[in-house]
Amino acid sequence: KFYNMVEDMRGKIRVFCRIRPVSRTEAAQGGVIVVERLDDYSVAVETPRGLREFNFDKVFGADSSQEELFQDTYRMIQSAIDGFNVCIFAYGQTGSGKTFTMVGDKEHRNPGIMPRTFTAMFDIIQVNGTRFDSKVSAYMLELYNDQLQDLLAGVAGDASATQAHAPPPRRLEIKRNRKGVVFAQGAETKQVSSAQELFALFQQACANRHISSTKMNSESSRSHLIMGIMVESRNLTNGSVSCGKLSLVDLAGSERAAKTGAKDHQLKEANSINKSLSALGDVISALSSELPHVPYRNSKLTQVMQDSLGGNAKTLMIVNISPAEGNMEETLTSLIYATRVK
Ligand code: ADP
Ligand code: MG
Repeated sequence: KFYNMVEDMRGKIRVFCRIRPVSRTEAAQGGVIVVERLDDYSVAVETPRGLREFNFDKVFGADSSQEELFQDTYRMIQSAIDGFNVCIFAYGQTGSGKTFTMVGDKEHRNPGIMPRTFTAMFDIIQVNGTRFDSKVSAYMLELYNDQLQDLLAGVAGDASATQAHAPPPRRLEIKRNRKGVVFAQGAETKQVSSAQELFALFQQACANRHISSTKMNSESSRSHLIMGIMVESRNLTNGSVSCGKLSLVDLAGSERAAKTGAKDHQLKEANSINKSLSALGDVISALSSELPHVPYRNSKLTQVMQDSLGGNAKTLMIVNISPAEGNMEETLTSLIYATRVK
């Protein structure tokens, strides 16, 4: 197998930045753009205090396509099939393009990383089919107000199932097995045999989210969505087995509570989100500065993501930002958060 030291990124964290196009609302408000992609690796923000530049492993501009972004993530999907733990997550304020990047647009005209991953995964597995026998299974969790819910509880695992009979999502506890592997105890894991089945499972799980579907857009931003796809491959020649896992995470919006004029329960939400995102930042920054102690235990988010961060895992963080003046402070906050990783 082709092996390149430079390309080997076990234990490393890469960070991409993606600027979304100006939205209609922003355009209506005058649409002043304060974010500029300088080149493939840097982005600048015009602040009242001067120009600030940030560097990343890659910067995707407002005109970047889902294909382009996926091309740069494809290798990680291959890695999960090769037996690595891989994690891809999107970070940013609500409305910055996290769900667009991870899932795609609502009409499925412009699929994002997740549906593309489902297809790519089974394509690779099919090509490898003469040499490996692979099994794919998945779980889906939602973390809302520090409560972990199983989105696959009661889901039949095929496209014909209807949502009407599904029980409410089950609460889960995080446990650690004898090998130190963290897992959500009692989470349903469904085996799937095609990209279509995996996509159907994903859609059912999304329908199962905490939020009523009518309020989907505003409220789904208040919870973290965590999907784990496990690939177990048996080498048909020598019988050896490898297990890889791909975690795909659409994080809750990173915006501060103050701006949204939060009421009581919203404040609780915001505090829980802030706490989990800053714990994630602490973990990532400890990993990238190779500190001896990595504070995984400080939040449920970092606990469920633990086996996908650090160790032999390959991690990709995508920081999504708005280009508009009105979001500048949040954009700066996000970019600063993302550069803590360096
Ligand atoms: P978030 O999940 O971060 O709250 P969304 O992904 O829902 O943000 O994006 C907000 C809106 O902007 C959506 O209508 C989405 O379709 C649109 N959008 C985001 N990023 C892009 C992009 N790169 N190209 C086109 N539209 C985008
Ligand atoms: Mg979203």
